[in-house]
Amino acid sequence: MKAIKLDSPGQLRLEDLAEPQAPGPGEARIRIRQVGVCGTDLHAFQGNQPFFSYPRVLGHELGVEVVALGPQEQDHPYDPGLTVGARCAVLPYFNCGHCPPCRRGKPNCCLNIQVLGVHIDGGMREYATIPARYLHPAPALSFEQLALVEPLAIGAHAVSRGQLEDGEQVLVVGAGPIGLAVTQFALLAGASVSVMDISPQRLAFCHQQWPQVTIIDGQNQPLQTLQAHFGDDMPTAVFDATGNTHSMHAAFSYVAHGGRLIFVGLFQGDVTFHDPDFHSHELTLLSSRNSTAADFQRIIGYLNAGRIDLTPWVTHRADTDTAIDAFPHWFDRDSGIIKALIAF
Ligand SMILES: [Zn+2]
Ligand SMILES: [Zn+2]
Repeated sequence: MKAIKLDSPGQLRLEDLAEPQAPGPGEARIRIRQVGVCGTDLHAFQGNQPFFSYPRVLGHELGVEVVALGPQEQDHPYDPGLTVGARCAVLPYFNCGHCPPCRRGKPNCCLNIQVLGVHIDGGMREYATIPARYLHPAPALSFEQLALVEPLAIGAHAVSRGQLEDGEQVLVVGAGPIGLAVTQFALLAGASVSVMDISPQRLAFCHQQWPQVTIIDGQNQPLQTLQAHFGDDMPTAVFDATGNTHSMHAAFSYVAHGGRLIFVGLFQGDVTFHDPDFHSHELTLLSSRNSTAADFQRIIGYLNAGRIDLTPWVTHRADTDTAIDAFPHWFDRDSGIIKALIAF
């Protein structure tokens, strides 16, 4: 079967791999149809993803079809929608089920987490055999929509971490796919949302998607720009989805007294802040990691109800013949990328 493998940084190639074994108890064999590409894959390609080991089949944003199901395990009955032929989204964070965070209902930060396409081989291949419990069937959705459930869920999870109130003033810093997902779910939560970015192209996309969102140009003196806009009534919840060290440090000063700062993106380094300012503002600082099955279910519900339109999000498409050459250019400054998908 065809697979796209990252042998070492910069070395992406199409390979012929053996097909996976037949599914055992509690497992499903899946035919992968669409794979989303994101910053994580780019960092692995560039070699600046420190916990990444090579070679690796990338791919954690997957729209798949079930081709075979192993026998059900006694204590873990299958979702009734999980049948051969079912279209599914895949929760790519395989958790152990027995460590303290798993036992406390936080499988997204399992101590033994294995993320598809990061710690173990992912979905840039025609077939895989995986535990069936990570499959979320959604027969009415397209494979493209299903592949986008994962990146949407990163934003949905961050918004649920932020516990937004109806009408709350929210600022999203960074209008990449994750920032867009945060914006989408903050709006669904009833918040009044502003989005700040340095890219006019991304801001224009945001404005086109949601005319009710306030667009803020963060290129020059973002703090002064925000103060001019909000006066002394700064946003009570600020999401930073940039993964950029300068932006994340600056974001502390964007939050109202008593507000929350939620870091969705991350970078490899230390975040420092001036403690007296942090205390006088009585800030709450939150991180948001991965997402959960509940986030997936909620998103599938919204997509089924037509409350999220993903059509404009897919700006780039490729197949196994064209993806290798196209991949490095998707992240060029002027590529205009929101999401790239690879068809398998
Ligand atoms: Zn991703
Ligand atoms: Zn665990």
